[in-house]
Amino acid sequence: MTIIDAPDKYPPASWAGGGILSPLYAWRYCDAMTLLSVNAFSRYQKVLEECDSAGIPGCGSLLHGGGLWVETAEEDAALAFEWAQRWHIPVQAVLAHEQMEESAAGGGLLFPSLGNIRNPGVLRVLRAYLLRLGVRFESAIIRHVRPLNLGGEVGAADGRRWHSDAVVISAGHAAPGLLLSMGVTLPLFPAKGEMLLYHMQPGQVPAVMLTERGYLIPRHDGSVLVGSTLRRGDNTTYPTVAGRYQLERLAARLWPELASCSPAFHWAGVRPGCERDIPFIGSVPGTNGVFAAVGHYRNGLVAAPASAELLAQLITGEQTFVDPEPYSLSSVSSSSRSSSSFFNR
Ligand SMILES: Cc1cc2nc3c(=O)[nH]c(=O)nc-3n(C[C@H](O)[C@H](O)[C@H](O)COP(=O)(O)OP(=O)(O)OC[C@H]3O[C@@H](n4cnc5c(N)ncnc54)[C@H](O)[C@@H]3O)c2cc1C
Repeated sequence: MTIIDAPDKYPPASWAGGGILSPLYAWRYCDAMTLLSVNAFSRYQKVLEECDSAGIPGCGSLLHGGGLWVETAEEDAALAFEWAQRWHIPVQAVLAHEQMEESAAGGGLLFPSLGNIRNPGVLRVLRAYLLRLGVRFESAIIRHVRPLNLGGEVGAADGRRWHSDAVVISAGHAAPGLLLSMGVTLPLFPAKGEMLLYHMQPGQVPAVMLTERGYLIPRHDGSVLVGSTLRRGDNTTYPTVAGRYQLERLAARLWPELASCSPAFHWAGVRPGCERDIPFIGSVPGTNGVFAAVGHYRNGLVAAPASAELLAQLITGEQTFVDPEPYSLSSVSSSSRSSSSFFNR
């Protein structure tokens, strides 16, 4: 197996993201999204255990199981309880200050079994593990994918070509250009997001703290991420002064102590935005052996293990663990779009 990636001049979204292992306000999404995300924590736990037992260093402390606290209005709380009961996810009503003394947020729900992953570390560990398994990594900018009778030809800007019986396009926000090289258009768009990182005491912020305005994500070493901005249509990867001000105000509002602190890091990434609430995973129409996993938008880290499993099952022809139809590149139905999802607000 060969993974071809562009030279890492800009960090991919999978590096830049926050790593919350739940869609934001998960109960506002359709079931097809919940099916990709509901077991994310245990799926990552399993993958990291596998890497660890293969001797890959750095697997510990990447998963943070402190829970997810969500600021919730009364009418939304009823929906959230119903959703949690349906999907067997523990939940309890907890005021923000009961959970986190310094916090300025109000009433909400705590999902104690949820958490977050330190995604840059996960990328390092997975790459090391794949290399150990014999996967080849090539650095190139891909310009086209040309379908063949079986599989396809992948062509790079520097003239190199690869041929395979099974080609997967998972090029984040750049995927529309590659799909277009095969005459396929999907409702995808770039959506820039910026984040700040503060240094605090380990454990000071015990859980991910989510509000309609943004979130705090604690890591085991005391780092706390504050995110995120969202600029639809923007595919630039530089952080901005406006983004920093917005996030600093948010940080001070969620955790007043942060008003007197300076962030240690500020970065931006580009989400692979999608007009519907679920990604496109499956065969590219009109091909035999060209697949895509695109449009994960705000949920690419939480959905990654399940999306990868579905994709692998589709490629090998195995029984899939979910009905693949809702994710298919041929199905762009209105039922896969929830009018109330977080990012539409
Ligand atoms: C600020 C921010 C916060 C986020 N927070 C969360 C969160 O808390 N939880 C969550 O689940 N998700 C979150 N996300 C979303 C998540 O990061 C994305 O959905 C996910 O990373 C998308 O993965 P991807 O593999 O599709 O794209 P990417 O991670 O962007 O990877 C695409 C890869 O394709 C390569 N590539 C692109 N074009 C070419 C080409 N022509 N040739 C060769 N290689 C190419 C790139 O180099 C890159 O390595 C966040 C995103 C951002 C920006």
